[in-house]
Amino acid sequence: MATCSQCGEKASFWSLDIFTRVCQKCRASGARPATLGCGTLLLIGIVVALFSRPGFSDLESQVSHLQSTVEELKKLSKTQTNEIRELRFVIEEQRKGGVGKDK
Ligand SMILES: [Zn+2]
Repeated sequence: MATCSQCGEKASFWSLDIFTRVCQKCRASGARPATLGCGTLLLIGIVVALFSRPGFSDLESQVSHLQSTVEELKKLSKTQTNEIRELRFVIEEQRKGGVGKDK
């Protein structure tokens, strides 16, 4: 004799579920730990369905396009930052040249 992991009642070894150790009565009621496994399987199924969707490759190319756009923007902002630095340098040089003009 073995006991059910769900209700604790004694049941024959073979009437218990092999993995969850839950008796047939508890399994019939639906309040079983195996629900978690079913949920996980369902989640995996959803993920697989999502990734194998025909539109996913479109999404993938869109994302890679966005990534390249971001890279371009990064490069542009770097160039602009350098230009601003150069301009600052020019302004500083001009200030040095014209001391007493500002104040
Ligand atoms: Zn039970």
